Amino acid sequence: MNVRYPPEAAAYREKVQAFLAEHLPSDWKGIGALELDARERFEADWRRTLYENGLLAPSWPAEYGGGGLSVLEQVIVAEEFARAGVPPRSGNDLFGIQMLGNTLLEWGTEEQKSHFLPRALSGEDLWCQGYSEPNAGSDLGNLGCRAVLDGDEWVINGQKIWTSLGHRANWIFVLTRTNPDAPKHRGITFLLCPMDQPGVEVRPIRMISGESEFNEVFFTDARTPAENVVGTVDGGWAVAMTLLGYERGEAAATMPIQFRLELDRLLELARERGRADDPHIRQRLAWCYTKVEIMRFLGYRTLTGFLAGRPPGPESSIFKAFWSEYHQIASNLAMDILGPDALVPTGRRPATAFQTDDPGAPNSTGSWTGTFLNARAGTIYAGTSQVQRNILGEMVLGLPKEPRADQGSWSSSGA
Ligand SMILES: Cc1cc2nc3c(=O)[nH]c(=O)nc-3n(C[C@H](O)[C@H](O)[C@H](O)COP(=O)(O)OP(=O)(O)OC[C@H]3O[C@@H](n4cnc5c(N)ncnc54)[C@H](O)[C@@H]3O)c2cc1C
Repeated sequence: MNVRYPPEAAAYREKVQAFLAEHLPSDWKGIGALELDARERFEADWRRTLYENGLLAPSWPAEYGGGGLSVLEQVIVAEEFARAGVPPRSGNDLFGIQMLGNTLLEWGTEEQKSHFLPRALSGEDLWCQGYSEPNAGSDLGNLGCRAVLDGDEWVINGQKIWTSLGHRANWIFVLTRTNPDAPKHRGITFLLCPMDQPGVEVRPIRMISGESEFNEVFFTDARTPAENVVGTVDGGWAVAMTLLGYERGEAAATMPIQFRLELDRLLELARERGRADDPHIRQRLAWCYTKVEIMRFLGYRTLTGFLAGRPPGPESSIFKAFWSEYHQIASNLAMDILGPDALVPTGRRPATAFQTDDPGAPNSTGSWTGTFLNARAGTIYAGTSQVQRNILGEMVLGLPKEPRADQGSWSSSGA
């Protein structure tokens, strides 16, 4: 692990800081300091600024509208944005840019890349992720949403679930079963499907926080052109795994900063509420501090490999399990500091259901209660903690694989 950056990093860091100083108000305290409607306006304006400056997809080649930055430059942009409390992109970009766009760069045809990548950046196409089904979550290879080729179109029938931001999307990348007689991981095709058609119905799911960020998506004879296959027909599993790597990755540079900013707010909360001298609370705060420091060093380890040209492998599961489990305990501590006030949350609530509240968010009961509830989902999405431990056991520690009862074709497994 190397905790120092190469000398050229400092000059580029200054450049990014100058960009931030030029485009943010002088009294900027982080996007969390804005009320939710002002936040929405800022996010839209900020996205446009990033788009116009090639920073919405810093790693993509310039020919597709990206920034063409080196790996080191990308890391510095991510770090400085996290420190300044500005988002690297907005809403559905997580799916369209971070997940699908990066995957298309590896797997897409030239036509797919030159058509879909610029449209994801311009915001014309807003994407969501159609992976999970009621019987296929951790066991994703069990998915049963069917696609059949009819002339020059695929016809899709079936259901997806937990589709985040599906209600804001007009395109979905969807894993479909195209060969039920093949072993379950071999008969899957990765399709790109427009959602603005009668065969696609989106139904919201209400979450514990009262928000509705995810949905069920039903396909009834939905259609998409034959050429919208990414990778090969029946060979979608490899494409799906590439995409999951992008879903779980990218966090090493920003998460330690994000969690440190949140911990500072938690310390402030303990002081504000007169709990900072309570020995039990102090002990738990100290525990949080050590965990955030460990996260920082885990981040350095991943970044060291990344800068040396080694993309994050299965060991990124350590990071995923670590931050999500830490966050449940830290947000639980916030609830204990707030005491009964947490039962009647008031003030600004988190703007999204993922990870910490925005940097600069007020220490309101609304913010912490929302964060506490959202943190429950952290050990589920992007692979549950148990699944991360299976990956670590089998792929990092080389322990014996779990017994698999479903070695035959998907259709013979009783699915
Ligand atoms: C907030 C949120 C957003 C999401 N967004 C999306 C999205 O946009 N698109 C999408 O496709 N999906 C999305 N998901 C779905 C998510 O990927 C799944 O919930 C997750 O993979 C777990 O699947 P499951 O819910 O079916 O649980 P199951 O797979 O049924 O698991 C139930 C329990 O059994 C355990 N378990 C299962 N298999 C094993 C095993 N082999 N060994 C040990 N324990 C095991 C699990 O760890 C878990 O505790 C989202 C989920 C959440 C919570």
